[in-house]
Order: sequence, then structure tokens, then C-alpha cells
Amino acid sequence: METKFCTIEQKAPEAEVIAQAGQIIKDGGLVAFPTETVYGLGGDAFNKESSKKIYAAKGRPSDNPLIVHIAKVEDLEKVAKNIPEEAYILAGAFWPGPLTMVLPKREDVPKETTGGLDTVAVRLPDHPVALPFIEAAGGFVAAPSANASGRPSPTTALHVNEDLEGRIEMILDGGEVGIGVESTIVDLTGDKPMILRPGFVTEEMLLRVLGDVETDQTIMLGSVAGRPKAPGMKYRHYAPKGSLVLLEGSPEKVLQAMQEKLAAASASGKKTGVLCSTEIAPFVKADVVIDVGSRQDEASIARHLYGALRQFDTENVTEIFGESFSREGFGAAVMNRLLKAAGYSVESL
Ligand code: AMP
Ligand code: MG
Repeated sequence: METKFCTIEQKAPEAEVIAQAGQIIKDGGLVAFPTETVYGLGGDAFNKESSKKIYAAKGRPSDNPLIVHIAKVEDLEKVAKNIPEEAYILAGAFWPGPLTMVLPKREDVPKETTGGLDTVAVRLPDHPVALPFIEAAGGFVAAPSANASGRPSPTTALHVNEDLEGRIEMILDGGEVGIGVESTIVDLTGDKPMILRPGFVTEEMLLRVLGDVETDQTIMLGSVAGRPKAPGMKYRHYAPKGSLVLLEGSPEKVLQAMQEKLAAASASGKKTGVLCSTEIAPFVKADVVIDVGSRQDEASIARHLYGALRQFDTENVTEIFGESFSREGFGAAVMNRLLKAAGYSVESL
């Protein structure tokens, strides 16, 4: 299949491009589109054949459910039932935005879309291209991240093209995304709201409006240590082809340990890479050094993280050392992804 690559004006999306993309979804095809978190791979949420195509295009295990994207809060009732009060509080506080809610699903949402579950994950994104696209597509777009399964989520349309060219009908290029890691997922089907995946909307932000919220404690641990409640969290993800080890400690200690390890890796003929903060980047000597932002600026680290992991692959780096960052606030989302990418390999200094 030939994939149509369409550039779209983020601030004023061209109506005819949006209409064309919407029609592809209505006809059962797939379109990758930008959101404020990462690029999504969309199909009609009510068409089970579309959902099957999403799994096939990504090479995604079929028990890993998709998120249904809507463009209006009222549409929540068309996919979910027995919606608790908390859902409306969260929608009021964070929609449109990077928050996904898990709720009991309505019967007519196909199990192919929900990975066989009786619950459905729903999000109303905050993006000037995503919203008119969802409307043009009929209002209900099932979309996981638009990467090949196991690779880092795409933060540019070129990343999508790398992974999915020839496998989907269209890619809408609306420029770089703003946040860079996937949405926070909150499960509202239990006794207490529970965070299944950390994201830009932090536990503190949720506590402020809900009063009570728990976090699935397996989030920061390797899969051997527990069974995460969001099916997708159990899979190996984002891992670069080279080995990645995280170093945790003060910037001085991290820098010193890195230099020693880099020297040893170079001596044994490895191509070396470093993912680190602006604070230590000028002092590091490796074949590829990627500065993802200041240690104080989690938003910058989040925005550059996936692009950096992809770049190590592009440059065939075989031995990568990464700086470990704060796990506070939005840092929890960043470290959750970085730990997964490293296969939970962390050295404390
Ligand atoms: P992605 O956006 O590619 O990360 O994929 C969607 C994520 O949402 C996956 O990690 C799923 O595990 C999670 N998800 C989707 N639906 C549900 C659900 N009904 N219950 C729990 N997690 C879900
Ligand atoms: Mg994903």
C-alpha cells in the first residue's frame, strides 16, 4: 500500500486534508495523526476490522487495548456506561488534555478495540489537528501510539514514517508534539481511582481535584516484580537496539562513572552513546552525546526522550549510558519510560 504523507498547518488545518483523512477512517482505513502527547495511529473505534488493522500495522499483541479518542465530552456516554461522578470532575479539570480514563464499556464497542476487555479507555486530546480530524472521522477514533510495537512512541511524523510507511493509508504531519510522552491513564472502575500509567497529569494534580487516588505500584518496577493493571505496561517498550544502563546519583558521581564506563567500552571497540542533562553534557566524551534538557526541566526531557532513543538506533550505537532523573511530579512519567527502555537496568552510585 502507498502511504500518503500530508503536511498540515497546525494552527489552521486545511479543511480538505481533514475531510480526506476523516473519510479514510470512515472507509475502514488507518491514519496517523498528531496529538499533544505523541502521534496516534487512528482507525474507526466502532469497526472491529479497523482495530484488527491497527494491531497488524504495528505488530501489536492483540490483548493490548487501544484508546478511544473523542472530540466532545458528551460522546463519552456513547462508548462508556455506569460513568461515575469522578469522570465528569476529571473531564472538567483536564479535558481536552493528556488524560485517559478507563470506564466500563458499552456493548457496541467491539472487543477488538478494547483488547478483549469489558472496559474502555477514553481520551479527549488537546490538539488543533486531532480534534477536527476526530470529528471528520465520525467522532470515535481508536488510537494507540503510531510506532511499530516495541519501538519508542513517535514525536514527529518522520518517526511514524520510519515505522509504518507502506502499512497505513495516510500520515498527517502536524509538526513536533508538545509533551512527548503518552497520556496519564486513570482507572475509574475500582473502589478508588487508580493511576495505571504516569503522564503529564501527575498524581498531585489528580489529588487536587479528586481528593483520593492511588498509583499502581508496579509502574516503576520490572515485570518480574508485579503484574501491571494496564495491559500495555507489561510489554518491553522503547528499548534501543544497543544496551542501555542508567546511572543514578549526584551529577558529579554520574559523570565520573560514565567517563570510566565509556573509556572501557571504547577500548573494547564499542560505539558509545550518552543520554544526559545539559548540566553534564559538555563534559561527556562519547561517540554520540544527546543532551535532553536541564535536570530541573522535566518537560524538556520528556519532549526529547523518544527522539533521542531513536537516534541511538539510527547511529548504530551499541553501548549507551543514561543519566537517571528525578521521579517527582512529571518526572515519574519520564522515569517510567526511561526505566522500561533500559530494561530496568539501573546502577546506584
Ligand atoms: P498506547 O497509547 O500505545 O500506549 O496504548 C494504549 C494504552 O492504554 C496501553 O498501554 C493499554 O494498556 C492502555 N489501555 C487501553 N485500554 C485500557 C483498558 N481498558 N484498561 C487498562 N488499560 C488500557
Ligand atoms: Mg504505545
